[in-house]
Amino acid sequence: MTADPLAIARDLLRCPSVTPAEGGALVYLHDLLAKAGFTVHRMTFAEPGTASIENLYARIGTAQPNLVFAGHTDVVPPGEERAWRHPPFAGDIENGTLYGRGAVDMKGGIACFVAAALDHVAANNGMPKRGSISLLITGDEESVAVNGTIKLLHWAAERGEKFDHCLLGEPSNVATLGDTIKAGRRGSLNGVLVVTGKQGHVAYPDRADNPVRGLVKLIAAIQAPLDDGSAQFDPSNLEFTSIDIGNKTVNLIPGEARARFNIRFNDRHTQESLKRLIGQRAEAAAEGRVRFAIEWEPSNADVFITKPGPFTELASAAIAEVTGRKPKLSTTGGTSDARFVKNYCPVLEFGLVGQTMHAIDECVPVADLVALTAVYRRIIDKYFG
Ligand SMILES: [Zn+2]
Repeated sequence: MTADPLAIARDLLRCPSVTPAEGGALVYLHDLLAKAGFTVHRMTFAEPGTASIENLYARIGTAQPNLVFAGHTDVVPPGEERAWRHPPFAGDIENGTLYGRGAVDMKGGIACFVAAALDHVAANNGMPKRGSISLLITGDEESVAVNGTIKLLHWAAERGEKFDHCLLGEPSNVATLGDTIKAGRRGSLNGVLVVTGKQGHVAYPDRADNPVRGLVKLIAAIQAPLDDGSAQFDPSNLEFTSIDIGNKTVNLIPGEARARFNIRFNDRHTQESLKRLIGQRAEAAAEGRVRFAIEWEPSNADVFITKPGPFTELASAAIAEVTGRKPKLSTTGGTSDARFVKNYCPVLEFGLVGQTMHAIDECVPVADLVALTAVYRRIIDKYFG
């Protein structure tokens, strides 16, 4: 009997696991994997000021190579529930499509990998053909990502677990299953520009120093293009996301003005080089007349690229054989937990089609679940073949 990715996806969708709630999703996976012979660990990680989060690590086999699948069972909230045509945690199927929060991001992806792994193991007398298959599943990806994959990887390393290659099941495809593998991600850095002036009466501007004038000047200088892209990446981008003065009084010149910005950067920069560059731009625009400071938030989202090699070729070939499409290697989009995994082993992201992720009536065609399971199965078979 082959494992059914649709049944697994449906069971997972019925677990209301909005971050930080476990919602029954990890209990379910624990049970399913343990029955198939996996050794399963469940860890709760905590840190002051954040919600405690449950995580799971499961492995079958003790030898290397260890192929690890990484993913998350937590989901974003459904938003306006009445706007859903199918309740977000019901797992409804209509016209060959499965509906629910997490259908593509990424309970569907987990279901496909689990089904593929169970089938591979069942076809090889209850064990991987050689080496090990493991799953690293967190409940903390959609929120702050503090008590999830980053701690799970550290925990695994401490007990001597070694990972050779990682597949991360985020919805990597843009329009059709098989169109895109993510083989790297841009970095992300947040900052606040603070300009200090002198508060005063608007009718007597000579007695005050309006920080808004300086802020506008510095913003214009800072948001100039950062680069024109690199071999594997689009151009870096800086966006101001909020200008905060908070002044409710019409006849008052404020004493301080702030502007928040985010930078998505490619491999032509590091966090340090960007901080220097932005500082220099502001300095030049200030011409010694604008008093300013730039506050940088700590960031754990560095840019990375997974260099093409045998693992990428193996995955691309498996995808092409099942879907008939040659996937593009992409580095677009936001950050993901791959930024943590890349410190332990090469990581590729391949999952479902991302179109409905985080949307009302998130859904996945059943045919995509079947095809992704076949892709994962082929990757596993090739990897251990
Ligand atoms: Zn996700």
